Amino acid sequence: MKRKTITTVGIITATLSVGLVTLNARENMGAALAKTKSVKVVKTKKMSGKAYRAKKGYLYKNKRLTKKSWSLKHHRKTTFYAKKQVTVKKSNGKKAIYFYVVTKNQRTKGYVWRGNLKRYVVKKSKKATTTKKVVAKPTVTKAELQSLIDQSPDLDPTGKLLSLTKKDYQTYEDLFDTNFNLTNFSDTGVFKHHQATLYVKDSALNDATQEAIGKWNQALGSTVFKLGTKDSHTMTVKFGNGQTDYWDGLYGSDTVQIDRTGFNDPDHGKTIVKNTALSQQYQSLKTKIVQNKTDFDAQSAVVSQQYRDKVVVLSQEIAKLSPLEAKSLVAQRKQLGKQKIADLSALKKAYSQRNSDLRNQQDAISKKMTTTEHAKYWTGVMMHELGHALGLDHTPYLADIVFANNNKEGKYESQNVKYPWSAFKGPQVNGGVETQTLSQRDIDRAKLTEQLGYW
Ligand SMILES: [Zn+2]
Repeated sequence: MKRKTITTVGIITATLSVGLVTLNARENMGAALAKTKSVKVVKTKKMSGKAYRAKKGYLYKNKRLTKKSWSLKHHRKTTFYAKKQVTVKKSNGKKAIYFYVVTKNQRTKGYVWRGNLKRYVVKKSKKATTTKKVVAKPTVTKAELQSLIDQSPDLDPTGKLLSLTKKDYQTYEDLFDTNFNLTNFSDTGVFKHHQATLYVKDSALNDATQEAIGKWNQALGSTVFKLGTKDSHTMTVKFGNGQTDYWDGLYGSDTVQIDRTGFNDPDHGKTIVKNTALSQQYQSLKTKIVQNKTDFDAQSAVVSQQYRDKVVVLSQEIAKLSPLEAKSLVAQRKQLGKQKIADLSALKKAYSQRNSDLRNQQDAISKKMTTTEHAKYWTGVMMHELGHALGLDHTPYLADIVFANNNKEGKYESQNVKYPWSAFKGPQVNGGVETQTLSQRDIDRAKLTEQLGYW
């Protein structure tokens, strides 16, 4: 409508291109009106106060359009609010529509030709985004975060590190990863609403899976893992072949694999378990066996030394005498050698007997351990793999469920590590896979990976 009016006016002025015609028309119109001594208001209508801006033309002080107050090209960014629509009749008899506008602070008001006004819409979406960006700034600087990390125990996020903002965790994800040995091992979709649903493909792994699920859920205080079905699950637990790469358990993408050969070997892993009466007896016997050997070696050394000393004394005396005079001493020395062999042999016999007794006892316990301790070991392995699923990489701490002897286990190297290691750390207490226990460090790290969005 507007465009049509202007073009019509333009055609009268010139036969230039449409764009220019439009411009000239507007200017001519403004100029024409400015020259007009007076117009007659024929109609006034209330308006709702919508916002407009103008790039050219004039703001008139009065509705007869005789007094200009602003040249609008100098006020392109002023927003006017249209309060009234005024139809005027010019001296040539033509009608035009003007808006009575006011600025926000109401200090400036006047009349502007409708053709020079353009609706101005405050872009709400854009404003919202800007507001969001301001809110979503990290609350800590990298240096501040590093300081918090340095104050926390090694590889154990505590305190404020677990209660930062989403933006903080997003911004410093790498810093968190490398300082707490974290890697997002799970594919997207494994955890939905902080929960993974496990399908146990090989039923022999049912018990270990359920035990491991129970331990993690209890430690984290929510149902992080639950059992699913073949048709409805986000993670799979099954047997695999770890013989070539020497693994008992493995996690990747959305699948836990347990080495079938190891699992089916009734002795595999069971002696690692340390938290049962039987395993304690087993460990005690193991210590006794080692001690028996140490004792035997020490006693043998003492006996040998005693004979050597005696031989040295005899030899010194023999040296002072003639061969004839020394004859009996030489015989005595020979006898000492025989006696030494006999004594050492007796020691050896006693050692062997005890060693054999201890080993027989150990074997008897070992047989009893086959079902219970064997099962516990695999529960520990399952807990370890679920730890990986939560985003925990290995640590050198013996008490952690994700403990590993070094950061390069076979071909599976830890990805984000604070430092490499080749021996365990921390007090040599029983823990981790040995006792199917989650350490505080395991739990704290899992809380951090939840914040990082890994589960
Ligand atoms: Zn591992």
